[in-house]
Amino acid sequence: MAAEIQPKPLTRKPILLQRVEGSQEVVNMAVIVPKEEGVISVSEDRTVRVWLKRDSGQYWPSIYHVMPSPCSCMSFNPETRRLSIGLDNGTISEFLLSEDYNKMTPVKNYQAHQSRVTMILFVLELEWVLSTGQDKQFAWHCSESGQRLGGYRTSAVASGLQFDVETRHVFIGDHSGQVTILKLEQENCTLVTTFRGHTGGVTALCWDPVQRMLFSGSSDHSVIMWDIGGRKGTAIELQGHNDRVQALSYAQHTRQLISCGGDGGIVVWNMDVERQETPEWLDSDSCQKCDQPFFWNFKQMWDSKKIGLRQHHCRKCGKAVCGKCSSKRSSIPLMGFEFEVRVCDSCHEAITDEERAPTATFHDSKHNIVHVHFDATRGWLLTSGTDKVIKPGQARAAWSPLLALLPPPQPCFPQTDSDMESLEKNHILLKGEIYTGKEAAAEDADDEVLRKGDRVGEDRCQAGF
Ligand SMILES: [Zn+2]
Ligand SMILES: [Zn+2]
Repeated sequence: MAAEIQPKPLTRKPILLQRVEGSQEVVNMAVIVPKEEGVISVSEDRTVRVWLKRDSGQYWPSIYHVMPSPCSCMSFNPETRRLSIGLDNGTISEFLLSEDYNKMTPVKNYQAHQSRVTMILFVLELEWVLSTGQDKQFAWHCSESGQRLGGYRTSAVASGLQFDVETRHVFIGDHSGQVTILKLEQENCTLVTTFRGHTGGVTALCWDPVQRMLFSGSSDHSVIMWDIGGRKGTAIELQGHNDRVQALSYAQHTRQLISCGGDGGIVVWNMDVERQETPEWLDSDSCQKCDQPFFWNFKQMWDSKKIGLRQHHCRKCGKAVCGKCSSKRSSIPLMGFEFEVRVCDSCHEAITDEERAPTATFHDSKHNIVHVHFDATRGWLLTSGTDKVIKPGQARAAWSPLLALLPPPQPCFPQTDSDMESLEKNHILLKGEIYTGKEAAAEDADDEVLRKGDRVGEDRCQAGF
């Protein structure tokens, strides 16, 4: 048999530009300061720090400010240099940063929540500060008057918050796995709809206002792309993580989605690819390929004097099949499965090499990511989280935001969209190496893959043996 020649994508791994270390506690959020070699971080140790790159090449704090309570989140608006910080005690504190990033001046405080602020969004166009808290409240305040404009009680604690400025829709993802869409007016809001697709809590949301797509990441390891603009209720699952998805970012110019996992895995998805929805799993008492009964089908087992088989599902056609009729595995990138999953033998034969070509690249940041920020103008990706390796004698691992990505900063910034496009296509991380080894090796790995839809059949089966 001739050797299979796989088209090899241009590989380009992210390059580590800099590690910024210096906090004993978890950094909950960090952002890149546009056009500056600077980073703003907020931490559980109550500090707000602005880090600037010095002549030595190292990042040193130009601002070190201690808040009265641990800092859980922030929103930074580069145009106005307004920094809104969410605290563990429920307060949102607003500051103005000086032009040289050496000073921050307090502006006002909002008594926004009863407990820890989980997300903040400052909307310059409307002068609104949107926030969610551990008190299960979504609230919005006027950033001019400081007054509370309204609130909405969410079904669980929210951990994802996005806003569409044009239509004034707010998207709230919560720990129950639900995404709620509200339409905001100046002083009231109406519930538009809710949707649910994850089997775990929503951990992050990301909104693409151009394609009108909402992405949700979840503790169930998956990302779902919700086609809001299409209004057909299309939801595509993206399966490429081995751990909870913690953070999402979208690069509009290159149409790439960056998802980060708690295990440090970074997956960059090509969103120019048209993917299909996964089929609903079919129910059957016998294999839909060879007709052998599944083990709970006692009547057929008795009649045919055959022992029942375990039920599985083909991820491509959704048919209920036995193990023998689904002995092979395949990735199905065009259905969002970047890892190998169970497919029935006929689907396995039908899948072409072209269809198997990966539509995402995989990287390991080597630290546990809690937040990510992407600076599209330079192709920089900033991740924050704890180190995987806990150094001896330390109670906690030092945090180490990772300024990844290629290449070293460009001498000038792109001026036009096409400049931007060519800059990004040529230089951004995205064409990395694919790690398939460990996923492919795991026996029955597809059973681990969490998916929406019904898996009662297999659960029943497992309970029986
Ligand atoms: Zn069969
Ligand atoms: Zn099939």
